[in-house]
Amino acid sequence: MIMEQPLYFGTQYYRPPTPAREDWDRDLAAIRALGMNLVKVWAIWGWMEPRPGHYEFDDLEQLLDLAHQHGLNVQINVAGVEMAPFWLDRICPGGRRVVNGIFMPRQNSLCCLPADFSAFCPDHPEVGRRMTEFFRATAARFTAHPALMGWDAWNELMGMGCYCAHTVAAYREWLRNKYGDELDALSHAWRRRYMAWEDIRPPEHPRCGYADMVEWKTFLADHTAAQARQRYDALRAGDPVHPVMAHTSTPSLHNGRGGLAWGDDDRKLAMLLDGWGVSWAPAETPIAPENHGTTYTLDITRGAADGPFWISELHASGPMVDGFTTRDSPPEYREQKFWIWTALAAQAKAVLFWQYRPELAGPEAPGWGIVRADGTFTERARQLGETGRILGKYNRELAAARPPRAPVAILYDPQIAMMQQAEHSPELFAASLKGYHRLLWELNVTAEFLHPRDLDRLGDFPLAIFPFPALIADADARILRRYVENGGHLWTEAFMGQFDERWEARPTVPPTELAELFGVSFGERHGAKELGMVPPEGATIKLPDAFVIEQMTPTPDAVVSAWAHAGGKSPLAVERQAGAGRTLCLGTLFGRAAGEMPDTGDAAAWFAEKIAKFGVVSPFAVSPSRSGVRCRLLQAGDATWVICANHGATVSTRIEVMLPCPGCAAGEVYGDPACHISLDGGRLTLAGDMAEHSVWVVRAAHADGKD
Ligand SMILES: [Zn+2]
Repeated sequence: MIMEQPLYFGTQYYRPPTPAREDWDRDLAAIRALGMNLVKVWAIWGWMEPRPGHYEFDDLEQLLDLAHQHGLNVQINVAGVEMAPFWLDRICPGGRRVVNGIFMPRQNSLCCLPADFSAFCPDHPEVGRRMTEFFRATAARFTAHPALMGWDAWNELMGMGCYCAHTVAAYREWLRNKYGDELDALSHAWRRRYMAWEDIRPPEHPRCGYADMVEWKTFLADHTAAQARQRYDALRAGDPVHPVMAHTSTPSLHNGRGGLAWGDDDRKLAMLLDGWGVSWAPAETPIAPENHGTTYTLDITRGAADGPFWISELHASGPMVDGFTTRDSPPEYREQKFWIWTALAAQAKAVLFWQYRPELAGPEAPGWGIVRADGTFTERARQLGETGRILGKYNRELAAARPPRAPVAILYDPQIAMMQQAEHSPELFAASLKGYHRLLWELNVTAEFLHPRDLDRLGDFPLAIFPFPALIADADARILRRYVENGGHLWTEAFMGQFDERWEARPTVPPTELAELFGVSFGERHGAKELGMVPPEGATIKLPDAFVIEQMTPTPDAVVSAWAHAGGKSPLAVERQAGAGRTLCLGTLFGRAAGEMPDTGDAAAWFAEKIAKFGVVSPFAVSPSRSGVRCRLLQAGDATWVICANHGATVSTRIEVMLPCPGCAAGEVYGDPACHISLDGGRLTLAGDMAEHSVWVVRAAHADGKD
């Protein structure tokens, strides 16, 4: 549904009780004048239902009427248990989440708190019933309003888990379903002797068996997805028309302690909704070539959404989690322009600022804001209209624009991250994914993150990289083998298939199917803080923090393509032709090592050479090659958009790319005089001094194409 929408450019506007009513008309007129087409407002359960069954929507009604008069669309963000009414404690005793054996404490400013706080448990039947009724009633009230664009059903979604009697009962029910109501089957799988289902408790401490941890987190992932769907269905019951989405603040693959650690599996969630978004905070990290994490967040969000996604919150004025914290300097317009285009290049289809005007109540006051607290324009607000006009002019084209098919899939299994929760090193999983993403990002090669549910799409990618593959089910090993035999290139590394689908260590690693496929067997594994990688030709490549080295023995039909230098010389990279495809296995955590390097240098060059042999090269030729310039392509019908962002210092650069339309004309959409464009037989060249932290946005289309 989201895919058929226009491109949205807008801002969060109203979270009760601010801004004040007398400012609304003037503010909405100013927002429209900036070229924005959407505002987000909040329907907060604790504000809109001050007494049970008694709804007060007059503020939202007035806001939607005014937005309509100013030609603005409105998304309503509905907040449920995370911002519950004060009477709920009295009406639903025992309705609070239980964590660490106690009920979540009361927060007296629930209405104005950021929504990273879920005090009540919707598994409590009366809490769940009252919350969903609020969602339904809100949707029914506004479904016919002409300004309504749609719903955000869950702000900064976080499942987090709960140990109340209702949630634990739901967990046991989930286990009974999974094991066909056979307690012995569960006991066998977990290597235990259980007497009754009631004896099973979810783990409350990180140090527990892998089975306990993965089953509990997988339940939470399914359960959070079901709760998101419960909100969706409640809104749908009141509004059969408008799209319903949700957004996260910490994507599943972000790091070892968020997302999946709480049991949020973004892919499972996004599949149940009409759209998926993220709160994106690039302003919290300086723009620099080594800070690829902000782009990583965009790419993993696109992976969860399987395509277009939303920037549901883009910080307007830097990291002010509370009103007393401040940034060294307010962000400038050029940074905001930089981030908007970086997001669009990653296939975001909406960019909403957090937020228009600083709040005056609650713990974030007076933080954030495109404009000042009195509503007057900052310099960055005045300039933002330039981007607003461009996004308005090319709205339909940018809404329809899609990147070319990515040549690389990065495979991941959420269970590996969940297993790490029972371990001391929860960062290995995300760090390994991030490291490979960084290498590809530096080469201007786009990658898609592939969830186990999407393995049927594996054949679409010439190259699949499986970082930190510590768990591989027998059935998945067969899928990987077929992929290679049919012509795919598969790249993986240490820990390959160490654990099976019951989270039990295999006695021989890799398992037979994969040992044959990769032409390698592992002996003992030991730690490797400093590792030297020696290719057949060229200098030794230093891999700091590679974590481990596997003692690898290649089969006679395999080729050693790099050696390890760590006290002796042993195989570090083993390649093998298998059917129509080829495999490469590294005996260390290469991705993790790459992610930790201040400069990927030689490791990146070796990686680029290897993946080129597997048919993966960037469509862009950028010189100098080790600059901070990152480029992406978008295509919309006849038009091609080239978006280049300079994450580094000012550089004299030359960027070349072949366009699919030889007869096109090209122009820099901002008219940046530093960007010299030439087009020769479909080869587009951009050259000039590219300023630090600037973007070049070039549109190419047939001269008679609509502008
Ligand atoms: Zn609960």
